[in-house]
Amino acid sequence: MEKTVIVIGAGAAGLMAAAAAAEKGHRVIVLEKNEKAGKKIYITGKGRCNLTNDCDTEEFFSHVVRNPKFLYSAVYGFDHGMVKDFFEKNGCAVKVERGSRVFPVSDHASDVTAALVRFLKKHDVDICCHSPVEDILTEDLFPEGGSGTEAGDGKHNDPRSRKKGPDLCVRGVRLKNGKMIPADAVILCTGGLSYPSTGSTGDGLKIARRLGLKTTPTAPSLVPFETRDQWCRDLQGLALKNVSVRIFPLEKTSETEGGEAPQGRKKAKPVYEAFGELLFTHFGLSGPIILTASCSCDFEKYPEGFRLFLDLKPALSQQQLEERIAREFAASPGKHLPAAIRPLFPARLAEAVTELSGFGSEQRAAAFSPSRIRELASLIKNIPVTVTGTRGYTEAIITRGGISVKEINPSTMEAKKIAGLYIAGEILDVDAHTGGFNLQIAWSTGHLAGSSIPVES
Ligand SMILES: Cc1cc2nc3c(=O)[nH]c(=O)nc-3n(C[C@H](O)[C@H](O)[C@H](O)COP(=O)(O)OP(=O)(O)OC[C@H]3O[C@@H](n4cnc5c(N)ncnc54)[C@H](O)[C@@H]3O)c2cc1C
Repeated sequence: MEKTVIVIGAGAAGLMAAAAAAEKGHRVIVLEKNEKAGKKIYITGKGRCNLTNDCDTEEFFSHVVRNPKFLYSAVYGFDHGMVKDFFEKNGCAVKVERGSRVFPVSDHASDVTAALVRFLKKHDVDICCHSPVEDILTEDLFPEGGSGTEAGDGKHNDPRSRKKGPDLCVRGVRLKNGKMIPADAVILCTGGLSYPSTGSTGDGLKIARRLGLKTTPTAPSLVPFETRDQWCRDLQGLALKNVSVRIFPLEKTSETEGGEAPQGRKKAKPVYEAFGELLFTHFGLSGPIILTASCSCDFEKYPEGFRLFLDLKPALSQQQLEERIAREFAASPGKHLPAAIRPLFPARLAEAVTELSGFGSEQRAAAFSPSRIRELASLIKNIPVTVTGTRGYTEAIITRGGISVKEINPSTMEAKKIAGLYIAGEILDVDAHTGGFNLQIAWSTGHLAGSSIPVES
C-alpha cells in the first residue's frame, strides 16, 4: 500500500531521497524552509557544482575523513557511476575534469537542481517551500496510556529505550506555524551548520537531540585559516601552486624548531602534511591544501591553535636549495637580497622572505657566507605561521560532526531507536575532502534512505 513519506529539507540529500522514495511508489512531500529547492547546490563548485568524483569506489573512501565504513552500503548501492547516469537521464549531461571531478557540461549548478526537480515533478512529488519544520511527531511503540507524543517529551529517557530495537515510531511532522502533517515515514535531511545563509542552520540536529539521538560535537571544516602573522595578510591575493605544509598543535612545537625536535625531545607528529596550492588572504590562508588541512585540525582539542610550517621549495632538498641560492648570489653579487632571491620567487614573496629572514633588504648577495645561505635556505623550507582559528561556519564548506552514525542502521539509514525515521546527508557525522565527495555522500545516503522505506506496512 502507498505510504506517505515526508522529506525534511530540499538540499542534495533530501531531493535525492525524495526521488528514490517516489520511484518506489510512495506519496512524497518535500518540506523546505527556503523559498526554493537546492539553494546550496546553486553555489557548489563556484556555481558549477562538482557533483561527484569519477575515481573508483575504494579511492572514494580514502577521501572520507570520518566514518567511511558507515557509508559502504550507501555508496556501493548508489555510486558515482549511478549518480552520473541519473543526471544524464534527467537532462543534465556531465563531464569529467582534472582530478576526476564531475561537473555539468553546461557548467551551471542550476542544471543539477533542475534535473532533480524535473524528476520529482514527473513522479508527482509535492515540493512545499516556505515550510520550516519544527518537530518530528512520534508515537510510543509500548504505550502506557500515552500516544502521539512530540519530540522532547522525555519519553526517550524511559529505561525501556535501553533494550534493542525501536521504542518510538514516526507519525508525522509539525511545522513552525503549528500545522501537523501525518506521515508513515520521515526522512530528515536538513544538512549541517555551514553556510547558514543557504538554510543549513542546524534545525535537524536540535530535532534529533530532542528525540534522544546522540550527536557528536560539530565544527566548521573545509574552511580557511586565520593566522596571527601580518606578513600572510600583506600577501593577500597571492597564490602559490607548488608548496608544502606541515601542521602541528601549537603547544607541541616551537617557532624555531621547524618541526624538528630539539635535542632530547621526541619529534612531534604533524596532524597534517601535504603538497599543493595555497592562497594568502586578508585574514590568513586559504586554497586547496588549507581547506583539506582544516579537516585534520581540531580546535576543540587544541584551542591555542596550530603551527604551520610552510616549505616554499619542497622540490629541492635543503642542500640543493643552498646550492641554488649560492649560484644565484654568485651570479649577481651586487644585488640587494630581495632582488638576489627574485629568480626563486614572485616579487612580493621575495620581499616577505627578506623581511622574515631578518637580514635586511640592504644586504648585498656578496655578503652571504655559506652559513648565512644555510640559514636563509632553512627559513625558506620552514616558514612558521601561527594558525589561531578558522573562518567559522559562515565560510565552511562542510560541517564536521553531527548525528552519531551509531544511531543509524547503515543498510537503510533508518534510526535504530525510531521506526520510520530515516536520516541522510551532511547532518550525519560523515564528511569528506573537496572534489565532489561530499555531494556523493548526500546522493548516496539520500538514495539509500528513500529506497529503504518498505512498500508494505
Ligand atoms: C560554498 C560551498 C561549495 C560547495 N561545493 C561543493 C562541491 O562542489 N562538491 C561537493 O561535493 N560538495 C560541495 N559542497 C558541500 C555540499 O554542498 C554539501 O555537503 C551538501 O550540499 C549537503 O547536502 P544536504 O542535503 O545534506 O544539506 P544541505 O544542502 O545543507 O540542505 C539542507 C536543506 O534543509 C533545509 N532545512 C534546514 N532546516 C529546515 C527545517 N527546519 N525545515 C525545512 N527545511 C529545512 C535547508 O534550507 C536546506 O535546503 C559545498 C558547500 C559549500 C557551502
